[in-house]
Amino acid sequence: MAWTCGGKTNAELIANMHREALIKSDLVAAAMQKVDRANYVRRTSEAYFDSPQTIGHGATISAPHMHAHAAELLGDHLHPGAHVLDVGSGSGYLCAVFHHLVSANGQPGKVVGIEHIPELVEWSKENVRKDGLGSALDKEHIVLIAGDGRQGWAEGGPYDAIHVGAAAPTLPQPLVDQLARPGRMFIPVGTHSQAVLQVDKHEDGSVTKKELFGVVYVPLTDREKQF
Ligand code: SAH
Repeated sequence: MAWTCGGKTNAELIANMHREALIKSDLVAAAMQKVDRANYVRRTSEAYFDSPQTIGHGATISAPHMHAHAAELLGDHLHPGAHVLDVGSGSGYLCAVFHHLVSANGQPGKVVGIEHIPELVEWSKENVRKDGLGSALDKEHIVLIAGDGRQGWAEGGPYDAIHVGAAAPTLPQPLVDQLARPGRMFIPVGTHSQAVLQVDKHEDGSVTKKELFGVVYVPLTDREKQF
């Protein structure tokens, strides 16, 4: 893991990560260029390191290379006009990146972030506004809500892409139900040892699962059990 990658500015961080192939997709790099990570962290002096950072309430903003990886795995499902659900949206950083990918070419998509710590939801809204996306919030192209992400958010679905930013003990069925046909989910699953699962729902409604790689994420859990 390239903990040493970084930059003095957001532009430098993303350019360096792209050059070192920690970001492979030009589209993802361009979206990450538009999101200033300093607007989504507590310690701004460390905003442009490729490392995770605590954001309080037992939560962590992931390292930029993990965010890039997640966006790349969701790939074409993050097309202009797509509907996306980000479970455990924390700082709001990835919702902003997804927004730039799905609201493009004059076609507005919709990104729903669901997070169970109300203080983080309020903070993420401030972050997104600081980052210049106030009108996307006002027009509900980005919706940040407080709730239990294990239930998803059916009213915004079905979703072309679902990203889960916390590790679930097992795959939550409501999230599978809320995937579009076709649709793809990125979800870390497991307790002691965790792995990212890629869950694909195909046009005929069949579902396939593929285990990708081991990770360490905050658990997807009950609000009172976090900390
Ligand atoms: N992807 C975000 C945050 C990752 S940390 C970022 O990079 O900023 C994981 C987040 O999942 C935390 O904010 C935590 O509060 C949240 N979380 C954990 N269990 C949850 C649940 N059941 N419902 C919604 N959010 C949950």
